[in-house]
Amino acid sequence: QEPERIAKVMARAGVASRRDSEALIAEGRVSVNGRVIESPALDVGPNDVVLVDGEPLPARERTRLWFYHKPRGLVTTNHDPEGRPTVFDALPEDLPRVLSVGRLDINTEGLLLLTNDGGLARMLELPETGWLRRYRVRAFGQVNQAQLDTLKGGVTIDGVQYGPVIAQFEREQGSNTWLTVDLREGKNREVKTVLEHLGLQVNRLIRVSFGPFQLGDLPEGEAEEVRSKV
Ligand code: URA
Repeated sequence: QEPERIAKVMARAGVASRRDSEALIAEGRVSVNGRVIESPALDVGPNDVVLVDGEPLPARERTRLWFYHKPRGLVTTNHDPEGRPTVFDALPEDLPRVLSVGRLDINTEGLLLLTNDGGLARMLELPETGWLRRYRVRAFGQVNQAQLDTLKGGVTIDGVQYGPVIAQFEREQGSNTWLTVDLREGKNREVKTVLEHLGLQVNRLIRVSFGPFQLGDLPEGEAEEVRSKV
């Protein structure tokens, strides 16, 4: 492992954010190889002994989880063969290496969970959770509530079976219709496919919640750590 800025190493170990780690250094609370350091302009590697208030960095990173407000135009993959910008290129600087919990399509916005723990990511995306996913959707075309209600019992489209989708008409805006769409599975392009089936072309898709996690008023492009109460 290459040496890296000490504040980055501290942040990754979960001590504090990068900026707060720099503050701890400025306060003289951090030592490297037995010497209190005074400046964050220092790279450390795996063989350096970093102590904060006399305590070593946690050996294994603690599990951490973030809300992220994904903007449109980013793919949820580490490497896009087509070279399109990815979520991971765009994340705020002070985040450690993270994985996403599932994926959102390139033009889907809204809540994407991120974690440094691969096991947690896989667990949270299991279909067995049956977690509600709620989307705000803008679609070109008109539809009435009775048509939307045909999705309640699930539909089969091109041989793919979709579970119950609860779609609620919200309002019309010009030639578009805004809907709230709730579903409990995360099939590929599910919202777009079931609405297209009703003749609606989705042109904005915003995930507002995933299980117990809510997007709330988190600004676009920002990440916020989910803090436990302990
Ligand atoms: N449904 C879609 O069609 N796209 C998404 O990104 C998520 C749900």
